[in-house]
Amino acid sequence: MSETIPKCLACESAATKFWFEKTNAHGCYPISRCRDCGSAWVYPRPTEAVIARFYEQYNRHPSDLSIDDLFARVLQQERDYPNSTIDAARFASRCRMLTRGNRFLDVGAGYGFSSRAALDVGFEVTALEPSAVSREIVKKLTNITAEPSMLTREFVAVHERAFDVVLLSQVLEHMLEVEAVIDQLATLLDPSGVLCLAVPHFASAISRLQGKGDMFISPPEHVNFFSRSGLEKLLLRRGFVIVKMETVSRVDVQKKLARLPLKPARNVADRTVRAIFSAMDAIKTGMFLNVYARRA
Ligand SMILES: [Zn+2]
Repeated sequence: MSETIPKCLACESAATKFWFEKTNAHGCYPISRCRDCGSAWVYPRPTEAVIARFYEQYNRHPSDLSIDDLFARVLQQERDYPNSTIDAARFASRCRMLTRGNRFLDVGAGYGFSSRAALDVGFEVTALEPSAVSREIVKKLTNITAEPSMLTREFVAVHERAFDVVLLSQVLEHMLEVEAVIDQLATLLDPSGVLCLAVPHFASAISRLQGKGDMFISPPEHVNFFSRSGLEKLLLRRGFVIVKMETVSRVDVQKKLARLPLKPARNVADRTVRAIFSAMDAIKTGMFLNVYARRA
């Protein structure tokens, strides 16, 4: 099977091979892997129809929940475990330091935490979000009316060089046409603008431990699994230079620890997990890869 696998979608190495077939509730998906950069990807690629069907179900709003109830639930979840808020504040402050411009594009805005953090540090925010339910939450959280799509050819054509920051947080791992997306981002950015990408880190310590059981190998939702060197080479090849690359580790640790019966035991476990995460991030082997880049 190895002779049928194309070159690495991240680093373009020809040293690629079939790795394993991931089977889940949505089907069977062969995964290929690069022996040079360690990135992996679903190949053959799922069809657009498979992807569309998946997101139609994924984005379906639970009929028993009003938007107000969902909004309350999102806020409560974020108060209890403020991972999205912390991530969003990090993106916003890093980008604020890297550009004087104010035009910020949040691609795949989700519930709008990154857009809200960008507003908080003075950016003017445009948000793209294909899910109607998520757009309603974005509106409630930020008062921004998000565009009902992801990147389209039409949007890119009328927004050439229109943004000082383009953020894709937890988006690129979903995209079928990775190079085309990176090229669209280059078109959208002002020549001095900053691209901020955040993806699950496929070469993280936890990912290596999990191997084929990596929790982020979840096709057809995720179809690309980037190592640090793979993502770096992809960006360099498409005309970007890396300004900053870091890993960030977080999980709903406290939620999991809440099962421990004794508070002192929870506190010890919490401190231990945090220390391990800090150590992983210090050597860039943490769970999520955050990259800040400019056009070369
Ligand atoms: Zn590679």
